[in-house]
Amino acid sequence: AIGGTLYIGWGIYQGRTPPAQYDPDPSKKTLVVLGTGWGAVSLLKKLDTENYNVIVVSPRNYFLFTPLLPSCTTGTIEHRSIMEPIRSFLRHKKAAVKYYEAECTKIDYENKMIYINDESEIKGSTSATEVPFDMLVVGVGAENATFGIPGVREHGCFLKEVPDAQKIRKRIMDCVETATFKDQSPEEVKRLLHMVVVGGGPTGVEFAGELQDFFENDLRKWIPEISNNFHVTLVEALPNVLPMFSKNLIEYTEQTFKEETIDIRTKTMVKRVEEKYIEAEYTDALGKKVLEKIPYGLLVWATGNALKPVVKDLMSQIPAQKDSRRGLFVNEYLVVKGTENIWAVGDCAIANYAPTAQVASQEGAFLARLFNQMAKTDSIETELAELSNVQEKATSKDLRDEAFGKIKDLQKRLRRVKNIGPFEYSHQGSLAYIGSEKAVADISWLTGNLATGGQLTYFFWRSAYLSMCFSTRNRILVIMDWAKTQVFGRDVSR
Ligand code: NAD
Repeated sequence: AIGGTLYIGWGIYQGRTPPAQYDPDPSKKTLVVLGTGWGAVSLLKKLDTENYNVIVVSPRNYFLFTPLLPSCTTGTIEHRSIMEPIRSFLRHKKAAVKYYEAECTKIDYENKMIYINDESEIKGSTSATEVPFDMLVVGVGAENATFGIPGVREHGCFLKEVPDAQKIRKRIMDCVETATFKDQSPEEVKRLLHMVVVGGGPTGVEFAGELQDFFENDLRKWIPEISNNFHVTLVEALPNVLPMFSKNLIEYTEQTFKEETIDIRTKTMVKRVEEKYIEAEYTDALGKKVLEKIPYGLLVWATGNALKPVVKDLMSQIPAQKDSRRGLFVNEYLVVKGTENIWAVGDCAIANYAPTAQVASQEGAFLARLFNQMAKTDSIETELAELSNVQEKATSKDLRDEAFGKIKDLQKRLRRVKNIGPFEYSHQGSLAYIGSEKAVADISWLTGNLATGGQLTYFFWRSAYLSMCFSTRNRILVIMDWAKTQVFGRDVSR
């Protein structure tokens, strides 16, 4: 029913809640949230939207459960199973939230204005406009880092968004089908079936594991002629993969990859990317630097994060941000340093921790609490001002005493409400899938620090990710995808 939601359990709601709000309420501050990723969405989930005119701007009108994105590259999971339309949860808020599907191209800090651009193929008569704000939350995430290495953008595939995963999935099958084309030379077959992953962080490792699974469980059976040539190589500049995991888990991962016949080329830095090969530098046994050409059919580039231009531009407007290279400096309340009304969450902010989904979602939830408290503080302060007025004008002692009692209560409440501590990140652990139904986990909340790997950890990985899924709908779809893969195998169509 309009104006009320019926909660029927299991995270399922019926009916649309907030009545549409066409114009902003002038008595409320306008809070603009940029992004629909982990930080922005966990803020929106917990925010009392009736306190502000809330506007969300993001080119993506859904939340994406990124931890399972590598599984979409091989069809273990269908991408729609890990997408949740933001409308589906915004409509359950108490007060309406405006959403614009657009990219924020510029933040004008001085004039409290953002400029937005509709990136969709279908344009209305307005496709670029501006939105004023009183408060702004920047949760736009990051770009793929290429370190200016030539050829990466032209020839490599990234793995950050749904279209990236779709492109990889098509590309794998394209390589396989082309390799089996009539009269293909043996060198060309080898090249086409050489799948190269650059970057040994969790993204690269998880993708390599998923790809090898795809080959072992499905491709090898359906297209046996590629068996001898299909090969996955992981290239990493540092001496080992997964640097954020403990030493025994790094060794476990490297050992598992060896058994899975994934090649790990550590201490190898990719310097250039061409259409059919990469140039990688390593130091040989004699200490000499060697530049090697490595032919590939598919190249997946997973070397971490870089700043988005809109964030870089904002930093250039704020003197306190001038020295930052990696993202927006924020204080312990996530306020962008040098500003009073801009906050930043997730990968575009510099925290003292790795830029992960876990950090972003805790930051978003913290900001929601902060904003809810701020609104309460404002309303208590207004009430206090009114009561002191009443007290001053009271004609009898009884009325004065009554007002005084209420003021005391409110002051107590105000102290409690204002007393919100700074943001503190609580690390729950790190998890990564490494292929052949094995996962690694560094968990801090059990007994001290538990580092485990193997099949049991894989079931833990599965249940942890399932429980972290956005909605019951997502959870059911993911379970069905896993079951489907188990029973029928993965779909090898392009
Ligand atoms: P990353 O920054 O963790 O790793 C990138 C790797 O690429 C680095 O080890 C780096 O040495 C290597 N590299 C960079 N340039 C190279 C070059 N030219 N040649 C060869 N190697 C090169 O990147 P990521 O895996 O995309 O992760 C990004 C962030 O997201 C990290 O903070 C990560 O912890 C987080 N994340 C976590 C999980 C998880 O917990 N399961 C999954 C995905 C991402």
